[in-house]
This record gives sequence, C-alpha cells and structure tokens, in this order.
Amino acid sequence: MFKALLVEKDDEGKTSASVTEISEDQLPEGDVTVAVEYSTVNYKDGLCIGPGGGLVRNYPHVPGIDFAGTVESSSDDRYKPGDKVVLTGWRVGENRWGGYAQKARVKADMLVPLPEGLTTRQAMAVGTAGFTAMLAVMALEDHGIKEGPVLVTGAAGGVGSVATAILANLGHQVAGVTGRPETADYLRELGATQIVAREEINETTKRPLETETWGGCVDAVGGAMLARVLGQLQYGASVAAVGLAGGANLPATVVPFLLRGVNLLGIDSVMQPYDNRLRAWQRIAKDLPMDKLEAMVRPATLADLPQLGADILNGQVQGRVVVDVNA
Ligand code: NDP
Repeated sequence: MFKALLVEKDDEGKTSASVTEISEDQLPEGDVTVAVEYSTVNYKDGLCIGPGGGLVRNYPHVPGIDFAGTVESSSDDRYKPGDKVVLTGWRVGENRWGGYAQKARVKADMLVPLPEGLTTRQAMAVGTAGFTAMLAVMALEDHGIKEGPVLVTGAAGGVGSVATAILANLGHQVAGVTGRPETADYLRELGATQIVAREEINETTKRPLETETWGGCVDAVGGAMLARVLGQLQYGASVAAVGLAGGANLPATVVPFLLRGVNLLGIDSVMQPYDNRLRAWQRIAKDLPMDKLEAMVRPATLADLPQLGADILNGQVQGRVVVDVNA
C-alpha cells in the first residue's frame, strides 16, 4: 500500500480530495511503474483537485499532471529499474491517474529520461509550467526575438516566473507584468528589468496599434491583455501564447498581423513529440539558473494539496510549488 491524494465523487456529484492509502493493483495499465519522488501544482491540477473542470473522466481520481522519480519496474527496453525519469503532458493527472501518489504507472512513451545535471526535485521545481515556459522561449527564438524588452505576462505565476528567469539568463531585457505589486522584488531577483502593472496592459484601447515596444512576449494570461500586447509588439515580433488565466476571449483586431507582421504562436505542452520534449528538458538543464529556480520554490506535501489547488485557481500562488509525495 502507498499514499495518494484521491479525489472522490459522491452520489450528488460533489467531489472531495483526501490523502488515502491505495494499492498497486489499483494503478492504471502501463509498461513502466515509477516510484514518484516529486510532483507540482499547476493550474490544471487546481481544476482536477476540485470538480475537475471537464478534465477528469472517471472517479476516484489521482491528480498530478507531472512527476519525477525512479523507475521501479519496466517491461519496455528503454527503461530499467533505477533510471531517473520525468513526465509532463499526455493528460496524465487528467484522464489518467497522475503524480499525486507515491507510485505511478504510465506508458514508456510518456516518459523522458531525467537530463544530466538535474535532480528529480529540480525537474519538478521546473515542472509543466517551466517546461512550457521553455517551449515558449524556444518558439520565440525560432521566429526571432526583436529589439526591445521581452514582455512576460502573469510574471509571478509558475510559467511567468520560469520564463522570466530563462529569458534574463539568455541576456534579454525582461518586462514582467503582474497584478501583485508586492512581487516586484521577487521578479527583479529572477532577472526582470522592468515591472509593468497589470492594469496598464489590461486597460482597453480603441487603437489597434500603439508604440512598437516589445521584442517578443510569453503570455500566460490571454484575453484582453493578449489583445493589447499584439498592438504593442515590434514589427515582426511574436507572442508565444501559453495560457488563459485572464480569460479565453480574444478581443483583438487583425491589424497588428497585417500592418506589423506580428506572429501569434500557440504553445501546447501536452502533445509534444519525444524529440522536442528531450530538447526542451536539455535546454532547461543548460539555460535555467538553478539558484534562481530555488528562489521560486515553495515546498508542499500531499496533505497541502486541497488548499493549494484552490489557491492556484484564485491566482494566489507565487512561483512553483514542489510536492514531496514521501514527506
Ligand atoms: P499560475 O496561476 O501560477 O500563474 C498565472 C498568473 O497569471 C498569476 O500568477 C497572475 O500573475 C496572472 N493572472 C491570474 N489571473 C489573472 C487575471 N484575471 N488577469 C490577469 N492576470 C492574471 O498558473 P501557471 O503559470 O501554472 O499557468 C498559467 C496559464 O498557462 C494557465 O492558464 C495554465 O492553464 C496555462 N498553461 C498552459 C500550458 C500549455 O501547455 N499551453 C502548460 C501550463 C500552463 P500575477 O500575479 O503576476 O499578475
């Protein structure tokens, strides 16, 4: 038997999450069983700890959209007991049991070997949010980052924090947009050279084009903020759109695309091919300063998760929460 955060649904459709003992034969089918060491708290986890937000198909459910740990047994030649592995994506923790347990069973295709130079804890300090931030930076690089600061929206959140640290470490000027002025020192420590108040970019304007300001943008917020940013990009610059913490509607015009040649790049961390996942993890090991990563981390246990799930949905989590499932 081992510990897991199990989300159950009662006859009235109400969900509740608690730390429970489960057995290995309850795990889903798969070719690799992993002794999980760390998992994290992401926005989707907040949804899955609660009523599911349409992501969870079957109850009882073990959430946790990412994890890192050690292979315990494997029927696939690519992995052997003792190998360190990391998992993000594949809807693990959504429609398949995930990382909020001391053991997980998955398909070998879903795993990536832990890159050299990273511990399992560091990999989860990065987690899905940081992995996505790296994919966003790689997408901006592929399309060319222009002159001027790179804007990061939702900067104090998980994706935003890691994006800020990576971009600053690569030598870019970084402007962090935050609705929490008290996080300014934290963002400066991560390498932000400019702090932009959320209201400044959230205000609507009738002008489809404004002064060309940003050399690129990693956007975790979407909605009105993304629409406004499109009209403030340098000619030919790109936004890597990652999330919708500020809403799914995009009240934009086509003008920035036509008159400034800007690019809107969608980033999806869930269905990345193996080679991209490996490349992104290797870049993380190389380009993310580990001392900065440490500054972003808040430790947690399985028992803390019900509260943390609610907090992240309310936009109240700063940086990255690393869950030690054995604590
Ligand atoms: P967090 O909650 O950690 O961060 C989101 C940040 O957005 C908050 O910290 C806050 O930043 C800002 N924010 C929240 N609400 C609003 C609002 N109403 N208006 C403006 N800003 C707001 O979440 P993550 O960083 O983990 O994820 C961010 C988004 O990215 C989510 O939508 C998530 O689902 C998505 N995501 C997408 C992935 C993909 O594959 N595409 C992978 C991972 C995440 P501040 O306090 O600084 O203002």
